[in-house]
Amino acid sequence: MKTLTVSVVTPDGPVLEDSYEMVSCKAESGELGILPGHIPLVAPLSINAVRLKRENHVDKLAVNGGFMEVRPDKVTILAQSAEKPSDIDIDRAERAKERAERRLQSKQDDIDTLRAELALKRAINRLRVIR
Ligand code: ATP
Repeated sequence: MKTLTVSVVTPDGPVLEDSYEMVSCKAESGELGILPGHIPLVAPLSINAVRLKRENHVDKLAVNGGFMEVRPDKVTILAQSAEKPSDIDIDRAERAKERAERRLQSKQDDIDTLRAELALKRAINRLRVIR
């Protein structure tokens, strides 16, 4: 089975580097499924899960923004944050979700609203990846 090297890097350092048969993620332009031999591309990523498939196993990561660079034998994800399920603190994500929801319910200016919406998306993404 052909594989791709997948490397995920954030400002805090490398998160993962391993071989997989397929990478699925949500780019801003829509769902992408990357197999070995894919044409080179660069795509901005949304706040979403990245699924990494190998044999009968799927590894998931909660990725927050950034870019993906695809080459035929390699996928590099450079993200603002990326966590494996085992590194996600559920309580922290639940607190962040509640905080963002409270902010969205109270009347605030547009910048704070956008910020709270993004914080809510990050928290929901983390909670989805672990459940
Ligand atoms: P919080 O309000 O709890 O800080 P956030 O969404 O604002 O959440 P980020 O700015 O996206 O946090 O991330 C800051 C750093 O904290 C990153 O290194 C990220 O991986 C880590 N992080 C954030 N939330 C969690 C979590 N629930 N579990 C584990 N790591 C987290």
